[in-house]
Amino acid sequence: MEIKQDWVIPLNAAQFLDAQPDSFVRLLNSPKMRATFDQAVEEVRQALEPRACWERFPIRAIRHDKVVLADGTRLGGGPLVRVVAGAQELVLAVCTIGAQPDALIAAARRANQWFKMTLFHELSAWAVGLLRQELCHHLARVFQAEGLRVSAPLSPGESEWPVTDQKVIFALLDATQIGVSLNDSMMMQPIWSLSLALGCGRHAMGVEEASNCAFCTIQERCRYRAYVAAQRAEGKG
Ligand code: SF4
Repeated sequence: MEIKQDWVIPLNAAQFLDAQPDSFVRLLNSPKMRATFDQAVEEVRQALEPRACWERFPIRAIRHDKVVLADGTRLGGGPLVRVVAGAQELVLAVCTIGAQPDALIAAARRANQWFKMTLFHELSAWAVGLLRQELCHHLARVFQAEGLRVSAPLSPGESEWPVTDQKVIFALLDATQIGVSLNDSMMMQPIWSLSLALGCGRHAMGVEEASNCAFCTIQERCRYRAYVAAQRAEGKG
């Protein structure tokens, strides 16, 4: 298993605000609200502990909507098979921004600082999304350097791929080595963590040139999707 902990996650306030509704941006016309926002960005920036782990698993076969790995493990459902069709290996990964952002949210909640709590929540969601993009970009670079192609990434529970496959991913990948565990409700601890899968191999794959947003069940109402697309257009994710 590979582990990488030296990620640089630039929490750029202007880019974050570009993805926010105008009503929110107008709120920051108040110097007091703006000061709270700037402080929250800095506190989350200081709290980030980005880590990721991943491993490659040879694929034995595709059976209906399931990928069968060399050891007989099956996972899939939703778009997984369509996306990784043609892959020789399935790469499973878990990443996290650590437990501190959640501690910031809990402290703000105890202090009834609702605006700050909301800011911490949104900024943490933004940061883990940025980490995922960095991770996908890094994996693509590593595999392309080996002459391999990579498919679009997918996360269980985000697309039609059932969230119950998180259990399979955590059985195959020892994410406790980066401090991430999965509870019986399929929730990861720390909560600002996510898992993903992508296919790699020498042959063309089902879907290569797409982000996970293309399969996301809330893509129509997600305000971060445009940002992810812009980043991809700039070759950053
Ligand atoms: S559409 Fe939004 S929620 Fe869905 S994967 Fe993309 S950024 Fe995440």
